[in-house]
Amino acid sequence: MPRYSIWTIGCQMNKAESQRIAACVECAGYQPTASFYDADLVILNTCVVRQSAEDKVLGTLGLLKGVKNRHSHLQIVVTGCLVDSDTEELKGQFPHVDLWFKPGNYAELIAWGQRQGIPIEQSVLRCPGNHGAPSPCAFVPIIQGCDNFCSYCIVPYRRGREISRPIEEVICEVEELVRRGVKEVTLLGQNVDSYGHDLPGQPDLADLLNALNGVDGLARIRFVTNHPKDMKLKLIDAMSSLDKVCEHLELPVQSGDNAILNAMRRGYTSEQYRQLVQTVRSRIPGISLSTDIIVGFPGETDAQFEHTLSLVREIRFDVVHAAAYSPRPGTTAFREFRDDVCASVKRERLTKIEELQAAIATEINSQLRDKEVEVLVEGKKKGKWFGRTRSNKLVFFEDDGNWLGKLVIVRIVKTSPWSLTGELNKVSN
Ligand code: SAM
Ligand code: SF4
Repeated sequence: MPRYSIWTIGCQMNKAESQRIAACVECAGYQPTASFYDADLVILNTCVVRQSAEDKVLGTLGLLKGVKNRHSHLQIVVTGCLVDSDTEELKGQFPHVDLWFKPGNYAELIAWGQRQGIPIEQSVLRCPGNHGAPSPCAFVPIIQGCDNFCSYCIVPYRRGREISRPIEEVICEVEELVRRGVKEVTLLGQNVDSYGHDLPGQPDLADLLNALNGVDGLARIRFVTNHPKDMKLKLIDAMSSLDKVCEHLELPVQSGDNAILNAMRRGYTSEQYRQLVQTVRSRIPGISLSTDIIVGFPGETDAQFEHTLSLVREIRFDVVHAAAYSPRPGTTAFREFRDDVCASVKRERLTKIEELQAAIATEINSQLRDKEVEVLVEGKKKGKWFGRTRSNKLVFFEDDGNWLGKLVIVRIVKTSPWSLTGELNKVSN
């Protein structure tokens, strides 16, 4: 049997797309292998959101050149955000790659597969199920692309304009996933708040959540990522009233300073963001909040960075993903601004955010000590079962039983800023 290996970095959308590609390659008769050296087909799913990710991708492409020199039959397919509309330059730079296809452009993959005698099925790409290691959690893309053009971001240039999947198609996929044992779905999009604007009748995310809440056997629904400028009251109300929608929201703020937010073209002020958080918290008490922050955007002064620190201190997020600004050729920030915050200042600011957030998360999580939480068990690592609460907290516990895919009640005995440890109490259902 031929073997394939898939290498993925970047966001959850990439992970979801890799699951789809892996499922259809397996249906075409390939078996998975972890090593490039054993593989007949290698697929790279790439990210270039920051230079550090791009460097890893280029390093892996270089490594594959050596592998192909030793195994000339190896076929290499590359997708993800490295792949631009114009692939001529990439083809010249990496002649050992057999196919470049833009993220989500499966028609190109199918046509190439046909030419190579690899029968890739459109239907598997649309509904991959949870193939491979069984997991009770699945990602379901609901909207591709992004129309926002934040000044620093390469994604709209690589993933194109927004295209939503029809509600019926999403429901059909989720029903199939549930038949195969999935209990939790995470709906994916760069901006899930734009879902549906391009569909007939213009359904929105709240309509989709309402429909999915009725799927028998599904226990939990999540969605990422929201955009603070687009999040509507109707969605907040749907979150608060639908029992399967989890009490967790990823709401990237990026900066706490209005001039920086304006230069980033985010479309909201820090006051509007604070107001939105207040509304969300008043309607969904106990909701956990995650955010993304970029430090060292061009021109960011110490005082402007302090505004971001104050916002983090005041809002008390459960999780903060902070990153240093990375200039991306092709974006407006790259064209219009000089990357003038030096690397050491960016590092200092990152450390300040991370230390502040670690202290906040320590306090928030310690309040869960001795509390009972519902955990959906996703797997076992180093002898410990792990899973997440509805509020997306990672929980570990030890037990001899087989709890994979079960909803269990765990009493928390130990907390840290990053995870919780508990004792199994009872099975929830
Ligand atoms: N659509 C989401 C949003 O509105 O934030 C997230 C998508 S983006 C690919 C994921 C995160 O990468 C962003 O939230 C941002 O913090 C970070 N990011 C994007 N471009 C970046 C850049 N040029 N430098 C540093 N971080 C960047
Ligand atoms: Fe990038 Fe902004 Fe779109 Fe998020 S909303 S993907 S940060 S352009």
